[in-house]
Amino acid sequence: MKVPKWRIFVLRIGHRPERDKRLTTHLGLTARALGAQGFWITGLRDPNVIKSIQHVSCQWGHRAFIVQNQESWRKCIQKWKNQDGEVVHLTMYGLHIDDVIPRIRASPCDKLVVVGGPKVPGELFNHADYNVAIGHQPHSEVAALAIFLDRLYQGSSLHFVSDDAELSVEPTAHGKRLQDRTTQKEDKTVQ
Ligand code: SAM
Repeated sequence: MKVPKWRIFVLRIGHRPERDKRLTTHLGLTARALGAQGFWITGLRDPNVIKSIQHVSCQWGHRAFIVQNQESWRKCIQKWKNQDGEVVHLTMYGLHIDDVIPRIRASPCDKLVVVGGPKVPGELFNHADYNVAIGHQPHSEVAALAIFLDRLYQGSSLHFVSDDAELSVEPTAHGKRLQDRTTQKEDKTVQ
C-alpha cells in the first residue's frame, strides 16, 4: 500500500477508571501499534492510562504518538470536522466494513475513529460520516479497532517500524529475543 495521505486519530468515549482501565489502555496501545497518530479519551480523567501508553511509546517507539484527554466528545468531533476531517464511528449497527472500507481508504481526509463505551449517545450516529460495523455481532471496542485499522491499511500496519524505539523484537521461532538500543545489548531469554 502507498503511504496514505490521511492521518488517523482514535477517540474513546465514556472512560470509567474503575472499570475500563485495562480496556482503554489496550485501545490506546492498539491505536499506536496499528498505525494511528494519536488517541483521545473522554469520560473520567485517568492519568495512569495516559502514562502507561506513553511509557510504551518511549520504549517501543513512535514517541510522537499523542495521548490526551478531551473535555467533550461533541466538541472534539466538531473541531475535527471544522478542520475537514471525517468521522468513522465503529458500531455493530452500521454498514458492513466490506461495503465502506474502499471509500474510506480512498478519501484523502484525516479520519477520527470513534469507539464507544458503556452507552453510546444516539446523536453520535448522526455526527459520523460513516457508521461502520465490524460484523453485526456485539464484541469489543479493541477487536473492532484492530480489525478496522488492519483492513484500512490492508495489513501493512503490522510491518511498521519506528526509528525511535529503544526496544525491538528479533523474531525467533522459539524463546524471546529483544534488542535494546540504549545498551546495544541483545537479551536472549528462553521461556
Ligand atoms: N452497549 C453499547 C452500545 O450502546 O452500543 C456497546 C458496547 S460495546 C462493548 C463498546 C464498543 O465496542 C461499541 O461502542 C463499538 O464502538 C465497539 N463494537 C462492539 N462490537 C462492534 C461491532 N460489531 N462493530 C463495530 N464496533 C463494535
